[in-house]
Amino acid sequence: MSPGRVPCPLCGLPVHPIAGRCRHCRSDLTRVARPTTPTTASTSPRGRAALIAMALLLAAAALAAPILAA
Ligand SMILES: [Zn+2]
Repeated sequence: MSPGRVPCPLCGLPVHPIAGRCRHCRSDLTRVARPTTPTTASTSPRGRAALIAMALLLAAAALAAPILAA
């Protein structure tokens, strides 16, 4: 692997990190997710808080279910 290159997510051959198009498989690299670029929803603090709230809600429901059923 040459330094300063990243593997194409589609064909795996080294391409420029800022290349908009892979010169090997000619795929549009601007339309595929890059490992170095974090996705917006899952990593934002609000998204993480929502995930934690959801997990707590599910845990509370699982704990309360036997009590409510009795
Ligand atoms: Zn490619």
